[in-house]
Amino acid sequence: MISMKNLIRLSIAMAAITAIIISCSNDENGNDDDEDIVSGELHAAFADFDTDETTIYLEGSNVVIETTGNPSHDTPYWGEGNEKYIAPTVTTEEDMTPTRIPQYDGTASLTVTTTPEIASSTTATQLGAIGIAVSGAAIFNDQEGNGALDEAAVSLDYTGGHIGPAEYHYHLEPLAFTNDDENLVGIIADGFFIYGRKCNATGTYPNDLDASGGHTSTTQHTNEAEYHYHIINELYSTTGRYIVFVGPYQGDPSSIN
Ligand SMILES: [Zn+2]
Ligand SMILES: [Zn+2]
Repeated sequence: MISMKNLIRLSIAMAAITAIIISCSNDENGNDDDEDIVSGELHAAFADFDTDETTIYLEGSNVVIETTGNPSHDTPYWGEGNEKYIAPTVTTEEDMTPTRIPQYDGTASLTVTTTPEIASSTTATQLGAIGIAVSGAAIFNDQEGNGALDEAAVSLDYTGGHIGPAEYHYHLEPLAFTNDDENLVGIIADGFFIYGRKCNATGTYPNDLDASGGHTSTTQHTNEAEYHYHIINELYSTTGRYIVFVGPYQGDPSSIN
């Protein structure tokens, strides 16, 4: 016969076991909830973006890239007297377009999915910003206002950028942060990253690029093969330099504004 004292002990023991079971299942549920709340991590490539010029954060299943629109590096386009001003080398004060960076508010924002995919059809690039570089400045294609870049090419600075006449932007390989290497250049409006002329996967110029300069491989930012663009290793027109990105977009582009 169980004494009252033992019955109480047994009840306490049973209650403790029940409490442990509840507490375990709560822990599991709690962890699951935490994973649901944190929707993901920023892609490792975003660590290469200049933190003075850009603010990058997750918003649900999207990533938002906000930028001042200004380049983090020296250029004559900062204008004489600015601490980031350097005298022109490959262009001249006479050939430069008249606007200087501090005279224009280049603030812009791009929202793209964290999991971009190749679209069923490609989309041609357009005038204006088609991407945001790691420096904070915009990436443009090979067109300038009224036509091909050639006529405006004399105004491009040492890093392939100029103003024409809105925000400072790159048309050519931005030598300030990528020069015949595998460095990250920036993000294109369809959410795919663009790298320099070489690929980290092989250490040299990729030979399997599609018409947009894209292919699928690992990079210095991921061990899982993923689609990304490269600056195509072919001299562009008469510039004697390399164009950043002509397109077409292989994914669905978002607007940069
Ligand atoms: Zn331009
Ligand atoms: Zn690659």
